[in-house]
Amino acid sequence: MAKVFGPLIWGRGFCGWACWTAAVLEWLPVKKEGRIKSEFKKLRYLSLGISILFPLILIFFLNYDVRSDYLNRSEMAWMFIGNGLYYLIGIALAFIFKDRRAFCKVACPVSLVMKLPSGLRLIKLGPSDKDCIKCGRCSRKCPMDIDVMAYISQGRKVTDTECILCLECVRNCPAEAIG
Ligand code: SF4
Ligand code: SF4
Ligand code: SF4
Repeated sequence: MAKVFGPLIWGRGFCGWACWTAAVLEWLPVKKEGRIKSEFKKLRYLSLGISILFPLILIFFLNYDVRSDYLNRSEMAWMFIGNGLYYLIGIALAFIFKDRRAFCKVACPVSLVMKLPSGLRLIKLGPSDKDCIKCGRCSRKCPMDIDVMAYISQGRKVTDTECILCLECVRNCPAEAIG
């Protein structure tokens, strides 16, 4: 519910405040350096394709019984192996790209599912009643590589569907120009 319908209200606020994968990745001793190129971000489509195809192959070609008991030992083992792999990929990507949110940007299939409804979200950050002094701090501090200054300095709301509503831009704005 939070991932499919929540984005209609708070966009990708789940990614900013509730995701257990990101919670672990945020602890990594990685200092962000630059932005990840957009070509790499397209890898998420491959990841989404695999996430959809893999269960379908299991069910329709390898006779996996979806009605079986989820709490049996092998099911649990596969769940932990899958989650472990998820974290390992996330940690490796953070160090390779020097960005703790690299997994979100280049590999997480869920991010694509949320981007679509997020475009219609009710809650968006935008300019406050104070003037933007164009210092660029918001854009530099944004963990999702959004050019926040371009939106705020032009009096526009931040409509980018990569926004995770983390409020880093608001916290770091010296002019209190984002609200
Ligand atoms: S993009 Fe994926 S991994 Fe990153 S915070 Fe959102 S759901 Fe979690
Ligand atoms: S820093 Fe601002 S624009 Fe960037 S993700 Fe966080 S809330 Fe969204
Ligand atoms: S941090 Fe604030 S003042 Fe600086 S560019 Fe961003 S919105 Fe403008």
